[in-house]
Amino acid sequence: MKVVKFGGSSVASATQYKKVASIIAADPERKAVIVSAPGKRHAEDTKTTDLLIRLADSVGERDFNEEAFQGVLARYRDIVEELELDSSLMTEVEGHLHEVISMYRQSKDRLLDGLKASGEDLNAKVMTAYLQSLGRKATYISPKKAGMIVTDEPGNAQILPEAYPEIAKLRDIEGILVIPGFFGYSYEGNIVTFPRGGSDITGSIIAAGLDATEYENFTDVDSIYCVSPKMVDKPRELKELTYREMRELAYSGFSVFHDEALQPVVHKKIPVCVKNTNRPEARGTRIVASRELDGRPVIGIASDEGFCSINMTKYLMNRELGFGRKLLAILEDEGVSYEHTPSGIDNMSVIVRSHQLYNGQEARVLNRIREELQVDELYVERDLAMIMVVGEGMNQTIGIASKATQALAQAGANIKMINQGSSEVSMMFGVNVEDVERAVQSLYHIYFPAEVGQEA
Ligand code: ASP
Repeated sequence: MKVVKFGGSSVASATQYKKVASIIAADPERKAVIVSAPGKRHAEDTKTTDLLIRLADSVGERDFNEEAFQGVLARYRDIVEELELDSSLMTEVEGHLHEVISMYRQSKDRLLDGLKASGEDLNAKVMTAYLQSLGRKATYISPKKAGMIVTDEPGNAQILPEAYPEIAKLRDIEGILVIPGFFGYSYEGNIVTFPRGGSDITGSIIAAGLDATEYENFTDVDSIYCVSPKMVDKPRELKELTYREMRELAYSGFSVFHDEALQPVVHKKIPVCVKNTNRPEARGTRIVASRELDGRPVIGIASDEGFCSINMTKYLMNRELGFGRKLLAILEDEGVSYEHTPSGIDNMSVIVRSHQLYNGQEARVLNRIREELQVDELYVERDLAMIMVVGEGMNQTIGIASKATQALAQAGANIKMINQGSSEVSMMFGVNVEDVERAVQSLYHIYFPAEVGQEA
């Protein structure tokens, strides 16, 4: 049995719906279908989730922005009308949005989550109606009925372990199950969404809960590429990569698969196959527990922006017992999660995502470090990008780092930081944002010489 997830662009219009229906029909193993909210139909379009966020922002004590409300309705109306589905569906869509608004009006966070979740919830209902109109046995399953029990943190849900036995019970339901992605229910009874792009996470959880043989993730690219096609023309396509490799690449900018979506399937070693809704015959990329190393130590290069580094020096830091612990405790207290902590004898840096140091947060963190740790020097460096060179074969190959530094030197990129974890599945380089594209292109040329456009 397979779990199939369709991303926003795959369910953005009636035309896309038809492709989805034939993909489901092409393989009887495709049992559970997870849908995103309707995404972009073209480059300038707005995702339904963003329209819903706009609507949530407009909700006041008694009213809301009618234009924002109509904007959301129009997305579903287009699909319902073009597929000639029962018009009562639109009454349901409208009623649902009104109900969420009146239920959560008093709490901004809950309202936002409630409306965001409506995007996938309504799409799952419309998709179910469409499959039924084609004569398929399809059932809409709400995340509540599916047993998607999550933590109660708005916009940042995490699945709870007790959800899995509940999900397993869905196996007994006959026909195709259509489940909205992106959210679950907390014990407090609230709708809680996963982070943005979280329908991937739902798909993975359902795949693990149902013990699926495969989790197919349909999107709008033929495969995962070894580097962003925005930076390199026709980069190498990847046929297969491991969970660890995918995790590293997704963490650092490969947005094709959510970086939190692997955990549920890793445990059960369920393969993930990323495929293209617009070209389902293309082979796609398989993400698996282990793969044959084919003599290529590096499989991909990813980069992500929006980091900053809190740098400090203190004479004899290496002798001071508990310095690192106290530093990290300050960050914990202030609710700042860190990404990396490169250090020297008398210096230490903490790399964090810049958005975490909002408003007064930065001044508070710096003041506490200065006062409680009595550092000699303290400053924040902004506009940093992280480049990740990833590959399972790296730990058996000598000279990977030297090639990288050579490539970065050729690109004229100043290396601010180097970090290699003990697993040696990745090597990370911190550079200035303005250097990142040149740096990635140069790394691509050194690790993938003369292979442009070929498949792995
Ligand atoms: N619709 C949500 C978003 O745009 C979740 C998803 O598509 O995975 O983030």
